[in-house]
Amino acid sequence: MAKIAILALQGAFAEHEQMLRSLGAETFQVRQLSDWNQPKDGLIIPGGESTTQSKLLHDLGLFEPIRQAITGGLPVFGTCAGLILLSPMHLCTMDIDVRRNAYGRQLGSFFTTQPMEEVGTDIPMTFIRAPYINKVSGTCKVLAEVDGHIVAARQGKQLVTAFHPELNDDTRVHQHFLSMVFDTCIKNVSSV
Ligand code: GLN
Repeated sequence: MAKIAILALQGAFAEHEQMLRSLGAETFQVRQLSDWNQPKDGLIIPGGESTTQSKLLHDLGLFEPIRQAITGGLPVFGTCAGLILLSPMHLCTMDIDVRRNAYGRQLGSFFTTQPMEEVGTDIPMTFIRAPYINKVSGTCKVLAEVDGHIVAARQGKQLVTAFHPELNDDTRVHQHFLSMVFDTCIKNVSSV
């Protein structure tokens, strides 16, 4: 069974936990370095407030270990603030140019359904004071766009969405993340 670490310093982590458990994954919350040091097959960085999460990561000595694990190939899924954390503004593990709070005040929160490559059609997308991605580079692949703006991307084992799939019943985005995790587990086992 896959064991997924969920960064639980702040924000919408409980919903990810529920969704992953409903899909049969084991999860644990990361609030300090000793939590993080447990064995894990993947990481969720939830929505919330990216500047607060980044500051806490630094204060708790989690920033560098997490950055190294991701660059070392640990699968990670960042939603909303989690997307911002993986960008060059913070952990700098993904080649994405991000616009924070991109939708302004009036359109702070909205819902739509759009196709997402590798995942399926009619994916429910809940946006809450969301960023979008201006541009991807390197090996980063665009997975979804809304009104011409990039709202989901994948680079190797790193998956990001500007929206919150954990807030709807549709589990396909989390399933996709778990399939990325299983793929990594199989490769690790076969290379031993
Ligand atoms: N606006 C938040 C930020 O900039 C992100 C919002 C969210 O995660 N729902 O960090």
